[in-house]
Amino acid sequence: MNWRKELVSSYTRIEDLLSLLELDINQIDALISAETHFPFKVTQAYASRIKLRDPNDPLLLQVLPTSSELVNPLNFVDDPVEEEPFEKDSSLLKKYHGRALLIATGACAINCRYCFRRAFPYQHMVRTQALENAFEQISRDLSIKEVILSGGDPLILDDQQLVSIFESLQQIKHVERIRIHSRLPIVLPSRVTKQFIKLMRDTSLKTSLVVHVNHPNELDNLTIESLRRCKESGLILLNQSVLLRNINNNADTLTKLSEVLFSAGVLPYYMHLLDRVKGASHFEVSDTEALGLEAQLRIRLPGYLMPTFVREISKKGSKIPLAQI
Ligand code: SF4
Repeated sequence: MNWRKELVSSYTRIEDLLSLLELDINQIDALISAETHFPFKVTQAYASRIKLRDPNDPLLLQVLPTSSELVNPLNFVDDPVEEEPFEKDSSLLKKYHGRALLIATGACAINCRYCFRRAFPYQHMVRTQALENAFEQISRDLSIKEVILSGGDPLILDDQQLVSIFESLQQIKHVERIRIHSRLPIVLPSRVTKQFIKLMRDTSLKTSLVVHVNHPNELDNLTIESLRRCKESGLILLNQSVLLRNINNNADTLTKLSEVLFSAGVLPYYMHLLDRVKGASHFEVSDTEALGLEAQLRIRLPGYLMPTFVREISKKGSKIPLAQI
């Protein structure tokens, strides 16, 4: 099926997903849509990997709104990493030295309940004028060597829109690299179209794709095939995960995750500690537990399969390795 049509057929009603999974809504602590401003949304491809009749399935728990979202400790806020626009009226966010982050869209194919941008005010950043201002700002700032396409999920844009972004960036001489942060090749593998692969092959910019996988069950044959095609196009493939309570906070799961990623041609990159966004406190894993997991993985995995455990701390010049927090 065409990826756009597949996207439209995503689950947006909890009842429909639970019916597919043969789960009774009365046995689940689900929040109905009106109780959360962050809507429920799951692609069919992702839903097909959730185990039937298992209310604790780690893929289900990533997308199911539950009443735990209403518990809000004071240190869980709307904007946990205090992201700053590059300049007024721009799609660009200040990032670390030499890099800038382009908010290409506010939309995603799936709404992950732990998302640190779940309350992000996208509306000012995704207007055409804001995008044009961003290109202008990048061309004025000679320090920017890498542009990170983010969102939302940048691959929710049409191929033609991506071509246009790449063309604009290719004209700026000091931009050498583009990095695409996307969960779409995982949750909607059909998004990896022939046109997308052609764009990746043809671009003169060094391009990497950082996907987002938290649990080995997220990789099925279709996903692996879409990643294989990305790799054949010359893309560097990396993965970032979030360490999530009751989802991947055990050494067996994380070891397997690194191994299956490698089999699919993807290298583990970051293991993020949860950003403390409002509504996600039930996913948090303590720093002490995370340090223990990191130590276990270091024993089990070769160095090149070891993700770097980090936390993003507002106003710091880089992500901070867990051991230094
Ligand atoms: S795909 Fe990424 S940006 Fe979109 S909801 Fe999930 S974590 Fe957030």
